[in-house]
Amino acid sequence: MAKGNINVSVENIFPLIKKFLYSDHEIFLRELISNATDATLKLKHLTSIGEIDVAYGDPKIEVKINKENNTLHVIDQGIGMTKDEVEKYINEVAFSGAEEFLEKYKDSAKDSGIIGHFGLGFYSAFMVANKVEIITKSYKDEPAAHWICEGTTEFTLEASDKTERGTEIILHINDEDKQFLEEGRIQELLVKYNKFMPVPIKFGTKEEELPLPEDAEKDAKPETKEVDNIINNPTPAWTKQPADLEDEDYKGFYRELYPMQFEDPLFHIHLNVDYPFNLTGILYFPKMGQDMNMQKDKIQLYQNQVYVTDNVEGIVPEFLTMLRGVIDSPDIPLNVSRSYLQADGAVKKISSYITRKVADKLKSLFNNNREDFEKKWNDIKIVIEYGMLSEDKFFEKADKFALYPTVDNTYFTFEELQEKIKDSQTDKDGNLIILYASNTDAQHSYIEAAKEKGYQVLLLDSPIVSHLIQKLETSKEKISFVRVDGDQIDNLIKKEDDKISKLSEEEKEKLKADFEKVIPQGKYTVQLESMDSNASPLIITQPEFMRRMKEMQQTGGGGMFGMGNMPEMYNLVVNTNHELISEILNTKTEKKQERLIKQSLDLARLSQNLLKGEELTAFIKRSFEMVK
Ligand code: ADP
Repeated sequence: MAKGNINVSVENIFPLIKKFLYSDHEIFLRELISNATDATLKLKHLTSIGEIDVAYGDPKIEVKINKENNTLHVIDQGIGMTKDEVEKYINEVAFSGAEEFLEKYKDSAKDSGIIGHFGLGFYSAFMVANKVEIITKSYKDEPAAHWICEGTTEFTLEASDKTERGTEIILHINDEDKQFLEEGRIQELLVKYNKFMPVPIKFGTKEEELPLPEDAEKDAKPETKEVDNIINNPTPAWTKQPADLEDEDYKGFYRELYPMQFEDPLFHIHLNVDYPFNLTGILYFPKMGQDMNMQKDKIQLYQNQVYVTDNVEGIVPEFLTMLRGVIDSPDIPLNVSRSYLQADGAVKKISSYITRKVADKLKSLFNNNREDFEKKWNDIKIVIEYGMLSEDKFFEKADKFALYPTVDNTYFTFEELQEKIKDSQTDKDGNLIILYASNTDAQHSYIEAAKEKGYQVLLLDSPIVSHLIQKLETSKEKISFVRVDGDQIDNLIKKEDDKISKLSEEEKEKLKADFEKVIPQGKYTVQLESMDSNASPLIITQPEFMRRMKEMQQTGGGGMFGMGNMPEMYNLVVNTNHELISEILNTKTEKKQERLIKQSLDLARLSQNLLKGEELTAFIKRSFEMVK
């Protein structure tokens, strides 16, 4: 029997492993199964290039719990190790056998999917075990080896009588880590980390029903047999070629990823590059709605089919973190800080590749089936609008397919919209005035009024729309957005057939003074307009600039520091052609006039949802008095 001391530099490592290195103790199982997978794939590679003459067969990895002995076993049928190799690979901690293997078989090994590079790998077993055994038999014609280490720098290494090729790792689980002897816990970990690993993983057995014989009785129970319980799908959709997959396969894989999700995704994007970095994956657009926050952190990051994390911040651009799916890349450095990750050149390239692929997919959906794209618009717009705001490259592309729906569900691209309104909605300097509503109920009367005049009114109701408008106004020339209830729409848009006021200039002056006497000072600016006599007598508008500033403050617009709270300021537009206004003007008693103005103002406020609390109660009471 050989006895020995593991390299001195290791001395300090064990306590480190146990306490600090891995905050998540559970990853030991991922590491051991990664090693078992590596060992199996190495064997596959060697047989495929004819280096060794053994049948690869149908190798499995098995995970077993032995509660009596407090042990957890990971057993593979891979390449195995000779005694010398155990000395070398296991005892020299920092030594990465996978790295040496890759070096040796550099060219032919490219596609064999060797994992490795997970850092400490095997030694993470000591996070949960006070004693670890390795029983291993190499594919080479040499006796098997048995290595035992009790979590100190001492180990023993002797011959073993194991005859089948492969490696068994035995963990003697610590008292405080007994959870890892529970079937449910191990099952959960296997599903979390190994669901898509490339070698089948067996954990226990299950009963499977046999097909009934043809002449079986009607209510006969099928016979059952015990079969291996295989945890994983070794060939998940993203490892296949897009040409080999149907739409149903993508949907099926989505359900595999998110078993609790009952709604199908809207569409998918298959990622597949091998130069200048290696990346595969499938991203899905789920139905998004208006909520920007609840949907994050659903994209899973893998390396060679081993689950790493569902935090893809920095790897996937922020606006796409609302998507779902899988990204698999061996080129993403792990175990580094997020800020390092964001500065990493390869990661930057990956992020812009993903952005480009998403933009291209959206463009092709738009080109190939515009009608369907329009139907999906409401569910995807938040991602697209957010992307246009945050990434200039994406803005350039999305500008061709981003849609601007009208309140009547006609969808324009920006270019189409410009074309549509260029003759009817320009101001005196030739700027295009784009009218929009953000809420069809609240702004109903304004929308109707604008439509009556033949204007196009967009419905822009995303939470970030004020930012997007700002962005569009600064990146395009000679356009400005005005909300339908914004001020001075009629002044902005140059019209041939302006209505003539029924009132004389003197009457107008008196009317203005009458109103200003009654309405709250500083809050409303009275503005006389000669509109259609059927239009509303009083309309409250808010200066476009003021309202937008407020909205941007609320949704965190940059550069608005120190502005404090904006005051409430409104325009009170008085329609001088309305009968009620004439009546107010001609009312003799001051008291009655005041009452009419107050009541009308309250009605106008009511229609804008501006009348609340005590004022609303008083208004209702006063109105009942008047009708009785
Ligand atoms: P890494 O996997 O990053 O190389 P590990 O510490 O996990 O580092 O493993 C060290 C080496 O031990 C591996 O590179 C491999 O050569 C060998 N090894 C570990 N587990 C097995 C196994 N199940 N079968 C064969 N060799 C193994």
